[in-house]
Amino acid sequence: MAGIDIEGLATVYPNGVRAVDGLDLTVADGEFFALLGPSGCGKTTLLRTIAGLESATEGTVRIDSIDVTRLEPGKRGVAMVFQDYALFPHMNVSENITYPLKVRRVAAATRASVAEKTGDELSLQGLLERRPGQLSGGQQQRVALARAIASEGKVLLLDEPLSNLDARLRLEARTFLKKLQKDLGITTVFVTHDQAEALALADRIAVMQSGKLRQLGSPREVFARPANTFVANFIGSTPMNLLPGTVGSDGVTIAGGSLPAATGSVPAGAEVTVGVRPEYLTLSTGDVSGPAVRGSVVVAENLGTQSLVTVDCDGTLIGVTVPEEDEPSPGTPVVLTASEQRVLVYDKESGELLA
Ligand code: ATP
Repeated sequence: MAGIDIEGLATVYPNGVRAVDGLDLTVADGEFFALLGPSGCGKTTLLRTIAGLESATEGTVRIDSIDVTRLEPGKRGVAMVFQDYALFPHMNVSENITYPLKVRRVAAATRASVAEKTGDELSLQGLLERRPGQLSGGQQQRVALARAIASEGKVLLLDEPLSNLDARLRLEARTFLKKLQKDLGITTVFVTHDQAEALALADRIAVMQSGKLRQLGSPREVFARPANTFVANFIGSTPMNLLPGTVGSDGVTIAGGSLPAATGSVPAGAEVTVGVRPEYLTLSTGDVSGPAVRGSVVVAENLGTQSLVTVDCDGTLIGVTVPEEDEPSPGTPVVLTASEQRVLVYDKESGELLA
């Protein structure tokens, strides 16, 4: 089983920056795992520490149950793909792919057949004789992946694998990467600052902030139930509404009305931050029964098939998405409702999820 176990890991740079600051996490065998977070949160340092390119200051890294914390990169059984691909410009595709095998003195005939086979898997047929300078960005990225796969590492580490591709190629490469990872079944950790990419690709996502883990969960979990307001703000293409509110007997009161919420053990009267995604609010122009928030439309932005409508509720702005054809005009009085499980309650001070 080529899982990765990280325990109490800290990586401190000589300038004193604790880029990774006491982290525990486990990546399962065969899992496609994303490290996600804003610039500077330490995700690249964590990946490089797993690879052995940075040394851990505290804690342990185990790969396939073997403690590799003090092993040099070449002995860890990892294959890494760098953001800029790091291809050798003077070698052709075939030589690039099989370079790790050449270093291990694998015979030329075997290398040629590995280049053929991996080239086929990565859709590089007909390109094996070309040099990197004669390839598109997407093709170069596939050569870098092919080289990593041909090296037969137990785990694949990808640093922002799609960031050098333009928007259209990135979507294509995303689908390709997801299918390849599932076909090969190789444990893969990838770094990204793009939450949409992490949601689309990963089996599980670790959201980091300042070297620490803020949430670990499936894309569905981190989207639907962010563990804190930091994750709530970071995940989602439209930001979650985070509103000052008060816990009532069967829900929460916010500007413009109230919403149902499972408030658990949070006492009535407590001042909290109420979180509800624009996608989980329903907008009506008629009357509704039960808890609701009333306001009037300020503006609507086109998001493609959906519109993001901003509603002024007693001076507080709340975002709600509606199908494009239902977009109300500015000034329309509207009512917002949500189902109980979609309304989250966060601690006003710490921002941690309470219920
Ligand atoms: P980005 O998305 O911008 O690459 P990141 O989340 O990958 O960011 P890291 O590159 O791991 O973050 O950096 C984490 C912290 O460590 C930052 O504060 C950064 O300035 C610092 N840092 C990174 N590399 C070094 C280094 N070689 N020496 C000192 N500090 C460093």
